[in-house]
Amino acid sequence: MKRVVIIGGGGTGDYAAFTLRKRGFDGEITILSADRDRPYDRPYLSKEFLRGEIEPPKVFLHDESDYAKERIELHLEQHVTGGSLTERRLTVAGGDDVSFDVLVLGLGGTPRRLPGIPDAENVLTLRSLGDSKAIREALGHARRLLLIGAGFIGAEVAASARKLGKEVLLVEALPVPLQRALGSEVGEIYAAIHRDQGVDVRTDTKVESWHTDGNRVTGVTLSGGKDEEADLVLVAVGIEPNLDLPRGLGLPIEGGGVRVDEGLRAAENVYVGGDVALHQHPVLRRAIRVEHWEVAKNQGRGIAGSIAGGHQPYTKIPYFWSDQYDVNLEYRGHASGDDTAVWRGDREARSFSVFYLRDGLVEGVLSMNDSKTNEAGGKLVESRRRMDPSALEDTNRDLAELASTTT
Ligand SMILES: Cc1cc2nc3c(=O)[nH]c(=O)nc-3n(C[C@H](O)[C@H](O)[C@H](O)COP(=O)(O)OP(=O)(O)OC[C@H]3O[C@@H](n4cnc5c(N)ncnc54)[C@H](O)[C@@H]3O)c2cc1C
Repeated sequence: MKRVVIIGGGGTGDYAAFTLRKRGFDGEITILSADRDRPYDRPYLSKEFLRGEIEPPKVFLHDESDYAKERIELHLEQHVTGGSLTERRLTVAGGDDVSFDVLVLGLGGTPRRLPGIPDAENVLTLRSLGDSKAIREALGHARRLLLIGAGFIGAEVAASARKLGKEVLLVEALPVPLQRALGSEVGEIYAAIHRDQGVDVRTDTKVESWHTDGNRVTGVTLSGGKDEEADLVLVAVGIEPNLDLPRGLGLPIEGGGVRVDEGLRAAENVYVGGDVALHQHPVLRRAIRVEHWEVAKNQGRGIAGSIAGGHQPYTKIPYFWSDQYDVNLEYRGHASGDDTAVWRGDREARSFSVFYLRDGLVEGVLSMNDSKTNEAGGKLVESRRRMDPSALEDTNRDLAELASTTT
Protein backbone atom coordinates (compact mmCIF):
# COMPACT_ATOMS: atom_id res chain seq x y z
CA MET A 1 0.00 0.00 0.00
CA LYS A 2 1.38 3.38 -0.99
CA ARG A 3 1.73 6.32 1.36
CA VAL A 4 1.17 9.79 -0.12
CA VAL A 5 2.52 12.64 1.98
CA ILE A 6 1.30 16.11 1.11
CA ILE A 7 3.24 19.09 2.46
CA GLY A 8 1.04 22.17 2.71
CA GLY A 9 -2.57 22.47 3.83
CA GLY A 10 -3.59 25.08 1.25
CA GLY A 11 -5.50 24.92 -2.04
CA THR A 12 -3.15 22.45 -3.71
CA GLY A 13 -2.73 20.13 -0.72
CA ASP A 14 -6.34 19.86 0.43
CA TYR A 15 -7.76 19.31 -3.05
CA ALA A 16 -5.07 16.74 -3.84
CA ALA A 17 -5.96 14.77 -0.67
CA PHE A 18 -9.74 14.65 -1.16
CA THR A 19 -9.47 14.05 -4.91
CA LEU A 20 -7.19 11.07 -4.28
CA ARG A 21 -10.03 9.41 -2.36
CA LYS A 22 -12.60 10.40 -4.99
CA ARG A 23 -10.39 8.78 -7.61
CA GLY A 24 -10.31 5.53 -5.65
CA PHE A 25 -6.82 5.77 -4.10
CA ASP A 26 -6.85 3.42 -1.12
CA GLY A 27 -3.41 3.99 0.43
CA GLU A 28 -2.42 6.27 3.30
CA ILE A 29 -2.80 10.04 2.87
CA THR A 30 -1.05 12.42 5.26
CA ILE A 31 -1.11 16.23 5.14
CA LEU A 32 1.65 18.07 7.02
CA SER A 33 0.82 21.76 7.33
CA ALA A 34 2.75 24.52 9.06
CA ASP A 35 -0.51 26.44 9.53
CA ARG A 36 -2.29 26.28 12.89
CA ASP A 37 -5.70 26.12 11.18
CA ARG A 38 -7.12 23.35 9.04
CA PRO A 39 -7.27 24.15 5.30
CA TYR A 40 -9.41 27.17 4.42
CA ASP A 41 -10.52 29.19 1.42
CA ARG A 42 -7.78 31.81 1.27
CA PRO A 43 -9.59 34.31 -1.04
CA TYR A 44 -12.16 35.01 1.71
CA LEU A 45 -9.38 36.48 3.87
CA SER A 46 -9.24 39.83 2.06
CA LYS A 47 -12.99 39.94 1.39
CA GLU A 48 -15.98 38.43 3.26
CA PHE A 49 -14.04 37.15 6.30
CA LEU A 50 -12.08 40.38 6.74
CA ARG A 51 -15.32 42.37 6.67
CA GLY A 52 -16.95 40.09 9.27
CA GLU A 53 -19.59 38.88 6.81
CA ILE A 54 -18.71 35.22 7.31
CA GLU A 55 -17.30 33.38 10.33
CA PRO A 56 -14.73 30.56 10.56
CA PRO A 57 -16.87 27.47 9.87
CA LYS A 58 -17.61 28.91 6.44
CA VAL A 59 -13.98 29.62 5.53
CA PHE A 60 -12.84 26.02 6.05
CA LEU A 61 -12.68 23.79 2.99
CA HIS A 62 -13.90 20.74 4.94
CA ASP A 63 -15.42 19.89 8.31
CA GLU A 64 -13.01 18.38 10.79
CA SER A 65 -14.91 15.08 10.61
CA ASP A 66 -14.40 14.84 6.82
CA TYR A 67 -10.69 14.13 7.32
CA ALA A 68 -11.42 11.11 9.53
CA LYS A 69 -14.22 9.97 7.23
CA GLU A 70 -11.90 10.00 4.20
CA ARG A 71 -8.96 8.57 6.18
CA ILE A 72 -6.86 11.70 5.62
CA GLU A 73 -4.40 12.29 8.43
CA LEU A 74 -4.11 16.04 8.91
CA HIS A 75 -1.21 17.23 11.08
CA LEU A 76 -1.20 20.97 11.78
CA GLU A 77 1.71 23.13 12.97
CA GLN A 78 4.16 20.71 11.37
CA HIS A 79 6.98 22.53 9.60
CA VAL A 80 8.90 20.27 7.24
CA THR A 81 12.49 21.48 7.14
CA GLY A 82 14.22 18.95 4.88
CA GLY A 83 14.64 15.33 4.02
CA SER A 84 15.95 12.96 1.39
CA LEU A 85 14.20 12.01 -1.84
CA THR A 86 16.33 8.90 -2.31
CA GLU A 87 15.54 7.68 1.21
CA ARG A 88 11.92 8.90 0.88
CA ARG A 89 12.06 10.57 4.26
CA LEU A 90 11.13 14.02 5.57
CA THR A 91 12.38 15.93 8.59
CA VAL A 92 9.80 17.78 10.67
CA ALA A 93 10.88 20.58 13.06
CA GLY A 94 10.64 19.29 16.61
CA GLY A 95 9.15 15.96 15.51
CA ASP A 96 9.83 12.49 14.16
CA ASP A 97 10.89 11.83 10.57
CA VAL A 98 8.07 10.96 8.16
CA SER A 99 8.45 8.47 5.30
CA PHE A 100 6.60 8.56 1.99
CA ASP A 101 6.19 6.72 -1.30
CA VAL A 102 4.79 9.69 -3.20
CA LEU A 103 5.36 13.32 -2.21
CA VAL A 104 3.14 16.31 -3.06
CA LEU A 105 4.26 19.89 -2.40
CA GLY A 106 1.80 22.80 -2.28
CA LEU A 107 3.82 25.28 -0.26
CA GLY A 108 2.45 28.69 -1.28
CA GLY A 109 4.41 31.81 -0.41
CA THR A 110 5.40 34.24 2.33
CA PRO A 111 4.49 37.94 2.16
CA ARG A 112 7.43 40.08 1.08
CA ARG A 113 8.71 42.66 3.58
CA LEU A 114 10.35 45.76 2.20
CA PRO A 115 13.60 47.01 3.71
CA GLY A 116 13.18 49.98 6.02
CA ILE A 117 9.65 49.17 7.18
CA PRO A 118 9.62 49.16 11.00
CA ASP A 119 8.87 45.95 12.81
CA ALA A 120 6.00 47.58 14.73
CA GLU A 121 2.90 45.99 16.29
CA ASN A 122 0.50 47.80 13.92
CA VAL A 123 2.41 46.91 10.71
CA LEU A 124 0.85 43.71 9.37
CA THR A 125 0.89 41.40 6.34
CA LEU A 126 -1.85 39.11 5.03
CA ARG A 127 -1.50 35.46 4.07
CA SER A 128 -3.05 33.20 6.70
CA LEU A 129 -6.36 33.01 8.53
CA GLY A 130 -4.45 34.11 11.65
CA ASP A 131 -3.22 37.20 9.74
CA SER A 132 -6.74 38.03 8.57
CA LYS A 133 -8.12 37.67 12.12
CA ALA A 134 -5.42 40.06 13.39
CA ILE A 135 -6.17 42.64 10.67
CA ARG A 136 -9.94 42.34 11.25
CA GLU A 137 -9.45 42.94 14.96
CA ALA A 138 -7.06 45.88 14.38
CA LEU A 139 -9.37 47.42 11.75
CA GLY A 140 -12.13 47.46 14.37
CA HIS A 141 -10.14 50.06 16.34
CA ALA A 142 -8.47 51.84 13.41
CA ARG A 143 -9.48 55.15 11.86
CA ARG A 144 -7.02 55.35 8.98
CA LEU A 145 -5.43 52.41 7.18
CA LEU A 146 -2.23 52.85 5.22
CA LEU A 147 -1.84 50.24 2.50
CA ILE A 148 1.56 49.77 0.94
CA GLY A 149 1.14 48.20 -2.50
CA ALA A 150 -1.81 48.30 -4.90
CA GLY A 151 -1.71 44.72 -6.17
CA PHE A 152 -4.74 42.45 -5.79
CA ILE A 153 -4.45 41.96 -2.02
CA GLY A 154 -3.90 45.69 -1.39
CA ALA A 155 -6.77 46.67 -3.68
CA GLU A 156 -9.15 44.10 -2.16
CA VAL A 157 -8.31 45.12 1.41
CA ALA A 158 -8.80 48.78 0.41
CA ALA A 159 -12.28 47.91 -0.86
CA SER A 160 -13.10 45.92 2.29
CA ALA A 161 -11.85 48.68 4.62
CA ARG A 162 -13.92 51.29 2.77
CA LYS A 163 -17.00 49.08 3.14
CA LEU A 164 -16.28 49.09 6.88
CA GLY A 165 -16.19 52.90 6.80
CA LYS A 166 -12.44 53.29 7.35
CA GLU A 167 -10.26 55.97 5.79
CA VAL A 168 -7.81 54.36 3.37
CA LEU A 169 -4.56 55.71 2.00
CA LEU A 170 -3.22 53.44 -0.77
CA VAL A 171 0.42 54.04 -1.68
CA GLU A 172 1.83 52.50 -4.86
CA ALA A 173 5.34 52.95 -6.26
CA LEU A 174 4.24 52.31 -9.87
CA PRO A 175 2.28 54.86 -11.95
CA VAL A 176 -0.98 52.84 -11.79
CA PRO A 177 -2.52 50.21 -9.49
CA LEU A 178 -2.45 46.57 -10.66
CA GLN A 179 -0.19 47.64 -13.53
CA ARG A 180 1.92 44.47 -13.56
CA ALA A 181 -1.10 42.17 -13.66
CA LEU A 182 -3.50 44.12 -15.85
CA GLY A 183 -1.54 46.78 -17.77
CA SER A 184 -1.80 50.56 -17.53
CA GLU A 185 -5.19 51.19 -19.12
CA VAL A 186 -7.12 48.72 -16.95
CA GLY A 187 -5.05 49.84 -13.95
CA GLU A 188 -6.23 53.45 -14.54
CA ILE A 189 -9.83 52.27 -14.54
CA TYR A 190 -9.19 50.53 -11.20
CA ALA A 191 -7.61 53.67 -9.76
CA ALA A 192 -10.75 55.60 -10.75
CA ILE A 193 -13.01 52.95 -9.17
CA HIS A 194 -11.12 53.16 -5.87
CA ARG A 195 -11.07 56.97 -5.92
CA ASP A 196 -14.83 57.03 -6.59
CA GLN A 197 -15.21 54.97 -3.41
CA GLY A 198 -13.18 57.44 -1.37
CA VAL A 199 -9.78 55.70 -1.31
CA ASP A 200 -6.89 58.18 -1.32
CA VAL A 201 -4.81 56.56 -4.09
CA ARG A 202 -1.23 57.86 -4.39
CA THR A 203 0.62 56.35 -7.33
CA ASP A 204 4.27 56.95 -8.28
CA THR A 205 4.74 57.39 -4.55
CA LYS A 206 7.01 55.83 -1.95
CA VAL A 207 7.36 56.10 1.80
CA GLU A 208 10.40 58.27 2.59
CA SER A 209 10.32 57.86 6.35
CA TRP A 210 8.27 56.28 9.11
CA HIS A 211 7.00 58.04 12.25
CA THR A 212 6.79 55.86 15.34
CA ASP A 213 5.71 56.12 18.94
CA GLY A 214 7.10 53.25 20.99
CA ASN A 215 6.27 50.06 19.12
CA ARG A 216 3.63 51.66 16.90
CA VAL A 217 3.73 53.47 13.58
CA THR A 218 1.80 56.74 13.74
CA GLY A 219 2.39 57.99 10.22
CA VAL A 220 4.75 58.42 7.30
CA THR A 221 6.42 61.03 5.16
CA LEU A 222 5.76 60.26 1.49
CA SER A 223 8.04 61.04 -1.45
CA GLY A 224 7.35 64.68 -2.27
CA GLY A 225 7.52 65.52 1.44
CA LYS A 226 3.89 65.19 2.56
CA ASP A 227 3.23 63.83 6.08
CA GLU A 228 0.34 61.40 6.51
CA GLU A 229 -1.16 59.86 9.64
CA ALA A 230 -2.06 56.19 9.97
CA ASP A 231 -3.00 53.96 12.87
CA LEU A 232 -2.78 50.67 10.97
CA VAL A 233 -0.41 49.65 8.17
CA LEU A 234 -0.74 46.69 5.81
CA VAL A 235 2.24 45.82 3.64
CA ALA A 236 0.94 44.07 0.51
CA VAL A 237 3.82 43.95 -1.94
CA GLY A 238 3.54 40.37 -3.16
CA ILE A 239 4.95 37.06 -1.97
CA GLU A 240 8.17 35.09 -2.11
CA PRO A 241 7.31 31.50 -3.12
CA ASN A 242 8.38 29.08 -0.34
CA LEU A 243 11.34 27.43 -2.05
CA ASP A 244 13.69 26.60 0.84
CA LEU A 245 12.33 23.08 1.26
CA PRO A 246 12.27 22.10 -2.44
CA ARG A 247 15.75 23.62 -2.86
CA GLY A 248 16.98 21.56 0.11
CA LEU A 249 15.43 18.43 -1.37
CA GLY A 250 17.41 19.05 -4.57
CA LEU A 251 14.40 19.75 -6.82
CA PRO A 252 14.99 21.90 -9.92
CA ILE A 253 14.44 25.59 -9.13
CA GLU A 254 13.83 28.00 -12.03
CA GLY A 255 11.97 31.26 -12.69
CA GLY A 256 11.00 31.71 -9.03
CA GLY A 257 9.48 28.23 -8.76
CA VAL A 258 10.04 24.49 -8.87
CA ARG A 259 10.30 23.34 -12.49
CA VAL A 260 7.67 20.67 -13.18
CA ASP A 261 6.78 18.80 -16.37
CA GLU A 262 3.44 18.88 -18.21
CA GLY A 263 1.96 16.59 -15.54
CA LEU A 264 3.23 18.71 -12.58
CA ARG A 265 5.99 16.23 -11.72
CA ALA A 266 9.33 17.58 -10.46
CA ALA A 267 11.08 14.22 -9.97
CA GLU A 268 10.02 10.59 -9.82
CA ASN A 269 7.10 10.31 -7.38
CA VAL A 270 7.34 14.02 -6.50
CA TYR A 271 4.58 16.39 -7.62
CA VAL A 272 4.41 20.16 -7.07
CA GLY A 273 1.43 22.51 -7.57
CA GLY A 274 0.10 25.99 -6.82
CA ASP A 275 2.11 29.16 -6.24
CA VAL A 276 5.49 27.38 -6.18
CA ALA A 277 5.13 25.40 -9.44
CA LEU A 278 6.73 26.56 -12.69
CA HIS A 279 4.62 24.40 -14.99
CA GLN A 280 5.38 23.44 -18.57
CA HIS A 281 1.87 24.14 -19.87
CA PRO A 282 1.02 21.73 -22.69
CA VAL A 283 -1.60 23.97 -24.34
CA LEU A 284 0.15 27.34 -23.98
CA ARG A 285 3.47 25.61 -24.78
CA ARG A 286 5.58 27.50 -22.29
CA ALA A 287 6.50 27.39 -18.63
CA ILE A 288 4.23 29.46 -16.41
CA ARG A 289 3.93 30.07 -12.67
CA VAL A 290 0.58 31.36 -11.44
CA GLU A 291 -0.37 32.65 -7.99
CA HIS A 292 -4.13 32.05 -8.05
CA TRP A 293 -6.62 30.00 -6.10
CA GLU A 294 -8.40 28.11 -8.90
CA VAL A 295 -5.04 27.13 -10.37
CA ALA A 296 -3.84 25.75 -7.01
CA LYS A 297 -7.09 23.81 -6.50
CA ASN A 298 -7.13 22.41 -10.01
CA GLN A 299 -3.47 21.50 -9.95
CA GLY A 300 -4.11 19.64 -6.67
CA ARG A 301 -6.90 17.75 -8.42
CA GLY A 302 -4.66 17.10 -11.44
CA ILE A 303 -1.85 15.74 -9.26
CA ALA A 304 -4.29 13.40 -7.50
CA GLY A 305 -5.50 12.17 -10.90
CA SER A 306 -1.93 11.36 -11.91
CA ILE A 307 -1.16 9.53 -8.67
CA ALA A 308 -4.40 7.53 -8.70
CA GLY A 309 -4.75 6.90 -12.41
CA GLY A 310 -1.32 7.17 -14.05
CA HIS A 311 0.74 10.18 -15.07
CA GLN A 312 -1.17 12.61 -17.30
CA PRO A 313 -0.66 16.19 -18.52
CA TYR A 314 -2.39 19.05 -16.71
CA THR A 315 -4.09 21.10 -19.45
CA LYS A 316 -6.38 23.61 -17.73
CA ILE A 317 -6.02 27.24 -18.79
CA PRO A 318 -5.34 29.53 -15.75
CA TYR A 319 -8.33 31.39 -14.37
CA PHE A 320 -8.73 33.95 -11.61
CA TRP A 321 -11.21 36.46 -10.33
CA SER A 322 -11.20 39.44 -7.99
CA ASP A 323 -14.15 41.25 -6.42
CA GLN A 324 -13.78 44.88 -5.37
CA TYR A 325 -16.95 46.87 -4.45
CA ASP A 326 -19.50 45.87 -7.10
CA VAL A 327 -16.81 45.26 -9.72
CA ASN A 328 -16.11 41.71 -10.77
CA LEU A 329 -12.89 40.98 -12.60
CA GLU A 330 -12.14 37.69 -14.34
CA TYR A 331 -9.10 36.59 -16.24
CA ARG A 332 -8.45 33.49 -18.33
CA GLY A 333 -5.12 32.59 -19.91
CA HIS A 334 -1.65 33.95 -19.29
CA ALA A 335 -0.63 37.06 -21.24
CA SER A 336 2.41 39.29 -20.86
CA GLY A 337 2.82 43.07 -20.92
CA ASP A 338 4.13 42.97 -24.53
CA ASP A 339 0.99 41.39 -26.01
CA THR A 340 -1.38 43.49 -28.15
CA ALA A 341 -4.53 44.56 -26.31
CA VAL A 342 -7.84 44.46 -28.18
CA TRP A 343 -10.82 45.98 -26.36
CA ARG A 344 -14.45 44.86 -26.59
CA GLY A 345 -17.42 46.47 -24.80
CA ASP A 346 -18.05 49.68 -22.91
CA ARG A 347 -15.16 51.12 -20.86
CA GLU A 348 -17.27 54.03 -19.57
CA ALA A 349 -19.92 51.68 -18.22
CA ARG A 350 -17.13 49.51 -16.73
CA SER A 351 -18.41 46.47 -18.60
CA PHE A 352 -15.80 45.29 -21.08
CA SER A 353 -13.19 42.69 -21.96
CA VAL A 354 -9.62 42.99 -23.21
CA PHE A 355 -8.02 40.31 -25.37
CA TYR A 356 -4.24 39.99 -25.32
CA LEU A 357 -2.84 38.74 -28.63
CA ARG A 358 0.59 37.46 -29.60
CA ASP A 359 1.22 36.53 -33.24
CA GLY A 360 -2.55 36.45 -33.71
CA LEU A 361 -3.11 33.95 -30.89
CA VAL A 362 -5.23 34.96 -27.90
CA GLU A 363 -2.98 34.48 -24.85
CA GLY A 364 -5.33 35.93 -22.27
CA VAL A 365 -8.67 37.66 -21.78
CA LEU A 366 -9.57 40.00 -18.96
CA SER A 367 -13.14 41.00 -18.26
CA MET A 368 -14.70 43.58 -16.01
CA ASN A 369 -18.36 42.82 -15.23
CA ASP A 370 -18.46 40.80 -18.47
CA SER A 371 -18.46 37.17 -17.43
CA LYS A 372 -20.00 35.73 -20.58
CA THR A 373 -17.29 37.18 -22.80
CA ASN A 374 -14.64 35.91 -20.42
CA GLU A 375 -15.92 32.37 -20.62
CA ALA A 376 -16.02 32.45 -24.42
CA GLY A 377 -12.61 34.18 -24.45
CA GLY A 378 -11.17 31.28 -22.45
CA LYS A 379 -12.21 28.96 -25.27
CA LEU A 380 -10.38 31.22 -27.74
CA VAL A 381 -7.24 30.91 -25.60
CA GLU A 382 -7.61 27.12 -25.59
CA SER A 383 -8.32 26.90 -29.31
CA ARG A 384 -4.81 28.18 -30.25
CA ARG A 385 -6.37 29.57 -33.45
CA ARG A 386 -5.30 32.85 -35.05
CA MET A 387 -7.85 35.61 -34.48
CA ASP A 388 -8.69 38.72 -36.45
CA PRO A 389 -8.62 41.63 -33.93
CA SER A 390 -11.47 43.44 -35.70
CA ALA A 391 -13.71 40.39 -35.18
CA LEU A 392 -12.85 40.32 -31.45
CA GLU A 393 -13.71 44.02 -31.08
CA ASP A 394 -17.06 43.66 -32.80
CA THR A 395 -19.74 43.11 -30.14
CA ASN A 396 -22.12 41.87 -32.86
CA ARG A 397 -19.90 38.86 -33.50
CA ASP A 398 -20.53 35.71 -31.49
CA LEU A 399 -17.30 34.75 -29.75
CA ALA A 400 -18.09 31.07 -29.25
CA GLU A 401 -18.77 30.79 -32.97
CA LEU A 402 -15.51 32.61 -33.71
CA ALA A 403 -13.55 30.04 -31.70
CA SER A 404 -14.92 27.21 -33.78
CA THR A 405 -14.63 28.82 -37.23
CA THR A 406 -11.49 31.01 -37.34
CA THR A 407 -8.28 29.46 -38.67
C1 LIG B 1 -5.73 37.27 1.24
C2 LIG B 1 -5.63 36.54 -0.06
C3 LIG B 1 -6.67 36.66 -0.99
C4 LIG B 1 -6.60 36.00 -2.21
N1 LIG B 1 -7.61 36.15 -3.11
C5 LIG B 1 -7.55 35.49 -4.28
C6 LIG B 1 -8.62 35.63 -5.24
O1 LIG B 1 -9.59 36.35 -5.03
N2 LIG B 1 -8.52 34.93 -6.38
C7 LIG B 1 -7.46 34.13 -6.66
O2 LIG B 1 -7.41 33.52 -7.73
N3 LIG B 1 -6.42 33.99 -5.78
C8 LIG B 1 -6.44 34.65 -4.61
N4 LIG B 1 -5.41 34.53 -3.71
C9 LIG B 1 -4.25 33.68 -4.05
C10 LIG B 1 -4.49 32.22 -3.67
O3 LIG B 1 -5.05 32.12 -2.39
C11 LIG B 1 -3.18 31.43 -3.75
O4 LIG B 1 -2.72 31.49 -5.08
C12 LIG B 1 -3.38 29.98 -3.33
O5 LIG B 1 -3.79 29.89 -1.99
C13 LIG B 1 -2.10 29.18 -3.53
O6 LIG B 1 -2.31 27.86 -3.10
P1 LIG B 1 -1.08 26.95 -2.67
O7 LIG B 1 -1.64 25.59 -2.41
O8 LIG B 1 0.01 27.10 -3.67
O9 LIG B 1 -0.54 27.60 -1.33
P2 LIG B 1 -1.27 28.04 0.00
O10 LIG B 1 -2.76 28.05 -0.16
O11 LIG B 1 -0.60 29.28 0.45
O12 LIG B 1 -0.89 26.86 1.01
C14 LIG B 1 0.45 26.62 1.36
C15 LIG B 1 0.47 25.74 2.58
O13 LIG B 1 1.79 25.22 2.76
C16 LIG B 1 2.14 25.29 4.13
N5 LIG B 1 3.60 25.22 4.17
C17 LIG B 1 4.50 25.99 3.53
N6 LIG B 1 5.77 25.56 3.76
C18 LIG B 1 5.65 24.48 4.56
C19 LIG B 1 6.59 23.58 5.15
N7 LIG B 1 7.89 23.71 4.93
N8 LIG B 1 6.12 22.58 5.95
C20 LIG B 1 4.79 22.41 6.15
N9 LIG B 1 3.86 23.22 5.62
C21 LIG B 1 4.29 24.24 4.82
C22 LIG B 1 1.47 26.58 4.59
O14 LIG B 1 1.33 26.62 5.99
C23 LIG B 1 0.11 26.43 3.87
O15 LIG B 1 -0.75 25.60 4.61
C24 LIG B 1 -5.46 35.19 -2.50
C25 LIG B 1 -4.41 35.08 -1.56
C26 LIG B 1 -4.50 35.75 -0.34
C27 LIG B 1 -3.37 35.63 0.65
